[in-house]
Amino acid sequence: MTAVGTFNNTSRATLHAVLTRLQTERGALGHFNVSDQVLLKAVIAAAAETKLPVFVGASEGEREFFGAHQLAGLVRTLREDSDLPVFLNADHTHSLAKAVEAANAGFDAVGIDFSALPFDQNVARTKEAAQAIKAVNPSILVEGEIGDIGTGSEIKETVQGDRKLSTPEEARHFVEATGVDILAPAVGNMHGMLKSMVQGKAKKHLDLERIAQIKQAAGVFLTLHGGSGTDDEHFRKAIAAGINIIHINTELRVAWRKSLDESLARDANEVVPYKILRPVVDSVKQVVSSRLGLFHGQSVIPDAVGSVA
Ligand SMILES: [Zn+2]
Repeated sequence: MTAVGTFNNTSRATLHAVLTRLQTERGALGHFNVSDQVLLKAVIAAAAETKLPVFVGASEGEREFFGAHQLAGLVRTLREDSDLPVFLNADHTHSLAKAVEAANAGFDAVGIDFSALPFDQNVARTKEAAQAIKAVNPSILVEGEIGDIGTGSEIKETVQGDRKLSTPEEARHFVEATGVDILAPAVGNMHGMLKSMVQGKAKKHLDLERIAQIKQAAGVFLTLHGGSGTDDEHFRKAIAAGINIIHINTELRVAWRKSLDESLARDANEVVPYKILRPVVDSVKQVVSSRLGLFHGQSVIPDAVGSVA
């Protein structure tokens, strides 16, 4: 278990060092997607509150809205100013050009996603992108994805994807052939949340035995995509089985939308953006802090709600 406070003053730690340390301490790095500065402020505030490392993520769509270089610059200055271990991931990158762009912009990691292609093409395109990223900076960690867990961190009517789970054999082959540092398999996870999950009536469940088998076969760090709405106990057991990074996006978006609606409804005459948006930052921060606590074996009760820097 990771003790609160042990990650103080480690803003210069590398992503690889933090993942290695968390693995020995049976914790997982929380990955939270951001589309704008409100969400980024919430994630950073949660890192400051919990004293735990965070992985800020932005998909191609989120990077296009935010600006890849602008986001990288902002995260760099936030890391320097806060002295917190904050890392940045180029989530779900579907082209060589976007992978190289993120590497050049200073991202700590690039998630290559050619998982929609046939397996052999996924291997070939991921290997090519991984080599290009390492040529820019060998310390950037490269993630590859196998299996179909659906697309879009949104509220959905029905389950997407073919639900075919990754096997230890394809995990081993993929890692050996591509040289990726991190593997994202399909182990019962799914992007987005069903309406019943948003209402708290249903939870996602993971194939925990498969995670352990894939971990042993692949021998690299493992990422769990589509973590929103997953059963808490399954998160704990998945980390014990070998998951190192957990992605949460839809839960943040649901909290963002709900709190923004409430904040706007509170006073129809309010037009000051930071007065409208401050409660939104707080609401999203609470979700992030709570998830971070769970991923590090703690039950975190935010004691500083409302004090967002
Ligand atoms: Zn994902």
